[in-house]
Amino acid sequence: MHAAVVGAGISGIAASAVLVSKGWSVTLLEQEKGPNQRLSFAPGLLQGRAVALLRSLGQTPGVPFEDTFSSRLQNRRFLKALKAVKNKAVENKKVTEDFFKFSCSMHKSTLERFGIDDERIDGLWVLLGEREERKLSEPPEGVDVLSRLEALEREPALSEEAPFSAALFMPDAGSSNGTYLSRRLLEQLLTAEDGRFAFRPGSRVTEILQKGGRVAGVRLEKGGELPCDALVLANALGAAELLKPLGLELPAAGLTGVTFTAEVQNEECLPACSIALPSSPFVLCRTDSRIRACGRFFLGTQTEKEKKAECNRLYDSVLGSLVNIRLVPESVRFWSAEADALPDGLPAAGTTRALEGLALSVAHADGGLSGAWGAAAICGAALSGDSGGSPAAEALRKACSPDRFEN
Ligand SMILES: Cc1cc2nc3c(=O)[nH]c(=O)nc-3n(C[C@H](O)[C@H](O)[C@H](O)COP(=O)(O)OP(=O)(O)OC[C@H]3O[C@@H](n4cnc5c(N)ncnc54)[C@H](O)[C@@H]3O)c2cc1C
Repeated sequence: MHAAVVGAGISGIAASAVLVSKGWSVTLLEQEKGPNQRLSFAPGLLQGRAVALLRSLGQTPGVPFEDTFSSRLQNRRFLKALKAVKNKAVENKKVTEDFFKFSCSMHKSTLERFGIDDERIDGLWVLLGEREERKLSEPPEGVDVLSRLEALEREPALSEEAPFSAALFMPDAGSSNGTYLSRRLLEQLLTAEDGRFAFRPGSRVTEILQKGGRVAGVRLEKGGELPCDALVLANALGAAELLKPLGLELPAAGLTGVTFTAEVQNEECLPACSIALPSSPFVLCRTDSRIRACGRFFLGTQTEKEKKAECNRLYDSVLGSLVNIRLVPESVRFWSAEADALPDGLPAAGTTRALEGLALSVAHADGGLSGAWGAAAICGAALSGDSGGSPAAEALRKACSPDRFEN
């Protein structure tokens, strides 16, 4: 049985790995010259439980974002669906936590199977101001509440002037470099799977071909068709135009985020763990001797001027808040991208009623480097007809179903 996977970001690479391990022969198609050129170029670091914890601190389900009058006008469908999800905030928090936990375990087992070390760094601080501390009724499971003094003693990046009154600490919230991981996994697939895996960069898919109500193949922009028995769309915002002729329109929106990475002059002050400051707001992670900071997300597309302003704000707030860190100015690299998101913040993962043999792994929002693994497992199980999933697996399958927004 042959499957085609569209998109060589982390979602497509993870889906390919799962399908290959279930005995499929797989062709991974990518429009760019190589893997990880779009969203998965993100020097993304936060792993699943950390993403779920930070989201759970927000007021609304899904990814916290800023909006403007014009972005609201352009994303009315997304906002309308968000309104409906707001009534289910408690269930959403629980299923988000479950999804990312599941994805973390899939991530671990995939890396073990392919012998890849993710060089994970454990621990996440969430620094709370007085207002946030007052609002905190009880800490989420597996999270310690520490005093300001204790946090200052344990975390070298925090200075006496850091603006917080208490800190949450999640010991098992990890961070690792998702782009690096997916590249390693692709290399392993190419060498290890006895010709059952092929990667075709420079192959843009323009149409899904069907026969008798099921997937028959894909048409390529450069000409020609690729027949297949199953198809996974893992091409983020690019999926919408392929799904439209099938009548499947997800209420997705783009959320634009910015990050910067930089080397640190005083290595003794490199953060020991990831640090989030919800009031500023930013999240800081570290990889080797570099740090990565991620700022706010904005609904819709941002102008270059707006992105630049957000980069400057992010840079100033990181330096202004954790003054122990001194950056090497010429090493600072800014990056921004528009991530595809659904209102509840969960991906569209798994098969769809729109066409038999078709599965999706899209709309990963701010958590795809962590959620890609769980989504890939859901797609792989559905396409391979694995039945007899536990009630918990069934609940996740439903929660991530691409059809869940249909009335
Ligand atoms: C600022 C920022 C910070 C982030 N930080 C984190 C983090 O800390 N932790 C985390 O887990 N996640 C993070 N993310 C989210 C993460 O980057 C994304 O969720 C993830 O990379 C999505 O991967 P993907 O494979 O779905 O999409 P992509 O990487 O965009 O892959 C889709 C691929 O499909 C290809 N494609 C599109 N259309 C076609 C077509 N028709 N034919 C062939 N190929 C096609 C594209 O070229 C692309 O390579 C962050 C995102 C942003 C923007």
